[in-house]
Amino acid sequence: MKLIFSTHNQNKLKEVRSLIPANIQLMSLDELNFKNEIEETETTIEGNALLKARTIYKHTGINCFSDDSGLLVDDLNGAPGVYSARFAGEQKNDQDNIDKLLNELRNSKNRAAHFKTVMALVLEGKEYVFEGIIHGKITTEKQGSNGFGYDPVFMPEGYNQTFAQMDPETKNSISHRGIALKKLVDFLVTSSVLRTPPSKEE
Ligand code: IMP
Repeated sequence: MKLIFSTHNQNKLKEVRSLIPANIQLMSLDELNFKNEIEETETTIEGNALLKARTIYKHTGINCFSDDSGLLVDDLNGAPGVYSARFAGEQKNDQDNIDKLLNELRNSKNRAAHFKTVMALVLEGKEYVFEGIIHGKITTEKQGSNGFGYDPVFMPEGYNQTFAQMDPETKNSISHRGIALKKLVDFLVTSSVLRTPPSKEE
């Protein structure tokens, strides 16, 4: 079965490829020569994930999934949330976003936060969503240099390292994206669309 992962991000593609069953032919937007950025115009993480999957399914007619994620900080009433990438402006700069976050939390006693990913799948025209959440806290300063986004200031519950101090395998095995992806893969593995129909002789 062909399945499009609606992303231009090579790191995400690599992670998904390593987990997806071998009988699924996974294709990225670059492999389809789809160069356009799909504008994330919805006001929720789930809305944007569905928007991207629907757009590509309509365009290609091929089963498709997409992901959208964000960081939700308790003391900021769930901000930056769906606006995580552009928290400090449309330039979408990780460093500026972190600086803004640390500044907004400078007097905060409650630094609890969670990352959330929604993976939206359009399979044979039907829509499914899979959610992954990881709880943790925002540190008072940056620690570590791996990863991207808010990784240097996010310390998951039960760990004394930030995401940016972990090796990528450890992070992927516990992350919001990893959890949502595992749910999606489990669904695909058990889904009837992946089973080869019995031959006529059987
Ligand atoms: P996306 O939907 O995966 O592109 O995520 C949107 C934004 O949320 C990113 O640009 C980052 O700012 C933030 N984000 C999402 N996932 C992570 C993560 O695993 N680590 C750090 N930041 C993340």
